[in-house]
Amino acid sequence: SSVVFWMRMGDLRSFADNRALSLASAHAKKADVPLVVLFVLSPQDYKAHDRSPRRIDFTLRNLALIKMSLEEKHIPLHTITEPTRRVIPQKVVSFLEHLDALAIYANIEYEVDELRRDTQICKAAQAKGIGAVFAHDKCVVEPGAVLTKESKTYAVYTPYQKSWLKILNSNIPHFLENCPEPHPNSELVHTMPKFKVLFDTPVPESVLGFELDAADRRKMEESQVTLSKILQRFLHTKSRSSQLSAVDPLAAGAVDSAKQSRIAVYDAERDRADKDTTSRLSPYLAAGVISARSCVRATMPDTQNGAKRVDGGRWIQEIAWRDFYVCILAGYPRGPALEDAYGEGQGRSNPKAELPLATVESNIEKWKTGQTGFPIVDAGMRCLNEMGYLHNRARMICAMFLVKDLMVDWRIGEKHFMEKLIDGDLASNNGGWQWCASTGVDSCPYFRIFNPHNQSSKADPTGDFIRHFVPELRSVRGPDLHNPSASVADKLGYPRPIVKHEESRARAMRRFKDPGSP
Ligand code: FAD
Repeated sequence: SSVVFWMRMGDLRSFADNRALSLASAHAKKADVPLVVLFVLSPQDYKAHDRSPRRIDFTLRNLALIKMSLEEKHIPLHTITEPTRRVIPQKVVSFLEHLDALAIYANIEYEVDELRRDTQICKAAQAKGIGAVFAHDKCVVEPGAVLTKESKTYAVYTPYQKSWLKILNSNIPHFLENCPEPHPNSELVHTMPKFKVLFDTPVPESVLGFELDAADRRKMEESQVTLSKILQRFLHTKSRSSQLSAVDPLAAGAVDSAKQSRIAVYDAERDRADKDTTSRLSPYLAAGVISARSCVRATMPDTQNGAKRVDGGRWIQEIAWRDFYVCILAGYPRGPALEDAYGEGQGRSNPKAELPLATVESNIEKWKTGQTGFPIVDAGMRCLNEMGYLHNRARMICAMFLVKDLMVDWRIGEKHFMEKLIDGDLASNNGGWQWCASTGVDSCPYFRIFNPHNQSSKADPTGDFIRHFVPELRSVRGPDLHNPSASVADKLGYPRPIVKHEESRARAMRRFKDPGSP
């Protein structure tokens, strides 16, 4: 027999800090049976959930490394590619039966489809006498633990974050424990035919429909070494002067005059899209190559000496936003945040009512390709297309422009981001989009409408971000870069603005106040 750990897209780390894997390993050791790791590739799921080729490719590259490191400990990692997603439960249970499994362990995925699938697997496994254990692992503080006085899921971030920090600090060892490493299995497992074949199946290099070309692959390295360099760089080194270096977070670049490390100046500099000031950990966090717990732990300088307090600085508050959005997803699967994705919400605009369909479609296309004539929006969208990553403030500017200046349904933007982002994550992406669209929970008030030109001079005062991603404007200096005149734009072959911001702002205000108005 055996014990199976089912690894999923969000928990791609093999040894430290993986709750379900540690539990599975302890069970296997106690029962003295081999531990097997399973990964199911589901192209239909990836399509249905708008997964980006970058995210899938990053998953496969990490899996290949994990397979190697598990094999050194005599643990096989087996991948199954299942084209029809609704048969995944049967496939998984057949695999368990084939290996005579005592139990299956996995970390919980909080998305509705995934929960439904896992419930089916739980029932089917248990009906066959196979144990099924699902652990909370994605968040620092698990969903359901941070509740209002009325025992409800918080719908507002600030009180959630206060409560989150209090709970975290009330029992640090529980939340920040470093899960024990899985125990290596005996080498004998290689000689058993049922298990030998699992070692022999390689991780596929690509998934049909999600292939990525070689140039794009190099843009985000998968190794633990790279990850730890990125973390160390954020915690201990000064930021570089230009966003250009952010294209490759580890490239050598000029260090600017900041005296302190990136995390120390994070609060002041995090909104600068032209500087390389944020951690750039999101691809690794979304894939679970690093746990959110480890990020919090890493900010506690004297953890080894038994320090027992998380200080709640600005960066930790961003990790809390990640937890918050997962709680929203788990607590309101059809509630405030996601209800709007299906029902008639205020932020669901219908520009077709006042613009010809062809204009709306052409505006969306220009937004997607970075041809709106608003330099900061175009730089952001081209950065997203080129890198699969975008700075947070630039995500906000691009999202708000689509929703409020172009009055396009936020779900079109949400889907496009998911299809492009290497860190695409339903909870954070949905939360971010609904914040910008003034829908869902704790979003910005409808009358807060970014002026793309003002935002541009604040987020990119040096202009380095725009000049890098919008080559037509490389020769432009000064305020023209943020709002080029018609003559400058024409001369340089840059598009003129597709809307007039003051007019579209007035239209958005009118439509948000009264969704039925023309
Ligand atoms: P840092 O500033 O270093 O923050 C550290 C970590 O905290 C991030 O890696 C991330 O895990 C978390 N975090 C930071 N800001 C937020 C936030 N606002 N919401 C939730 N978590 C946050 N983040 C994703 O991981 N996946 C997404 O699909 C995603 N889509 C977004 C869509 C929109 C419209 C917006 C406005 C934001 C979105 N974000 C998303 C949040 C945020 O933009 C990214 O997490 C951040 O830019 C990643 O860069 P970083 O790792 O350098 O972040």
